[in-house]
Amino acid sequence: MAHSKVVIIGSGPGAHTAAIYLSRAELQPVLYEGMLANGTAAGGQLTTTTDVENFPGFPNGIGGAELMVNMRQQSERFGTEIITETISKLDLSQRPFKMWTEWSDGPNDPPTRTADAVIIATGANARRLNLPGEEKYWQNGISACAVCDGAVPIFRNKPLYVIGGGDSAAEEAMFLAKYGSHVTVLVRKNKLRASKVMAERLLAHPKCTVRYNCVATEVIGEAKDNGLMTHLRVKNVTDDKEEVVEANGLFYAIGHDPANALVKGQLDLDEDGYIITKPGTSFTSVEGVFACGDVQDKRYRQAITSAGSGCIAALEAEKFISEIGEEPKPHV
Ligand SMILES: Cc1cc2nc3c(=O)[nH]c(=O)nc-3n(C[C@H](O)[C@H](O)[C@H](O)COP(=O)(O)OP(=O)(O)OC[C@H]3O[C@@H](n4cnc5c(N)ncnc54)[C@H](O)[C@@H]3O)c2cc1C
Repeated sequence: MAHSKVVIIGSGPGAHTAAIYLSRAELQPVLYEGMLANGTAAGGQLTTTTDVENFPGFPNGIGGAELMVNMRQQSERFGTEIITETISKLDLSQRPFKMWTEWSDGPNDPPTRTADAVIIATGANARRLNLPGEEKYWQNGISACAVCDGAVPIFRNKPLYVIGGGDSAAEEAMFLAKYGSHVTVLVRKNKLRASKVMAERLLAHPKCTVRYNCVATEVIGEAKDNGLMTHLRVKNVTDDKEEVVEANGLFYAIGHDPANALVKGQLDLDEDGYIITKPGTSFTSVEGVFACGDVQDKRYRQAITSAGSGCIAALEAEKFISEIGEEPKPHV
């Protein structure tokens, strides 16, 4: 059984930023990047998008997959050991923490590895509706992140739709109103779930309309490869009447699922399943276990905030390891 001072679980910007800091501090981190863990390729959510235009340092934008390849190379350059396996089980009940991998270890095998400190960077997944047409037009009109994608040219001065009735939907609709010709929010129920103040702002917004009791049933668009969505089929759930409306953008604001399966019952989670970290830190409810990225952040969920929290987790893990008796070398 192998032992490491620190293991990072995950492979998005949070995990790789932590790996870069820890490997530069010569702590020989091991990073489990997952093998389609949680339905996401190694590299995380950004591997599912085209251009990332808001990550500093790339004035002309950079492909999401390319950005993650760069981060992976940077982690490896300083000596991170990257293992392409999914961690299937984690025992945080005592130190050293124990872990098992999905493919190599059977349920009764001894753990594959132990670690003095663990950084959880397993991310989150935006919920989808799996509508007909969704696969074809994903990122060609359909998005789960208005802040990430709202400013791209295909949405400029075009009719846009948001699905959801909570604060996120209201916030995203008003954000998108800066770019689209008009934004319609489809709400399945007959009222908004959003807080009173957000609901009032949305309803008063001159470029936003809320349609209650309405759901999207199909995304329609150009037939060619990489064609864009152009229309949406909308159903009124009170009378089942359907209509096809012009729509060049569809934004899901129906929540995210944090990838918490490994730590459920072991770390404190909030009511939506996000790992609770002490504000401004990466400390979880178990000493020696740190969390970064979207699995602990339900508010911002951006690549740069994930990377920032990965840096915090690395510095805190490094300090923890030095406090329990190891002597990591200082940053150079
Ligand atoms: C379509 C799309 C477009 C986006 N565009 C932008 C953008 O333009 N700008 C921006 O700033 N943000 C954007 N985001 C948000 C951004 O991608 C996320 O905020 C960021 O990737 C979160 O990083 P993370 O480190 O938390 O991990 P994630 O990117 O969520 O990745 C976590 C990784 O951990 C792996 N993993 C999970 N469980 C295990 C396990 N048990 N063992 C091993 N590995 C595991 C998963 O497979 C996954 O690869 C976008 C998101 C999406 C979905």
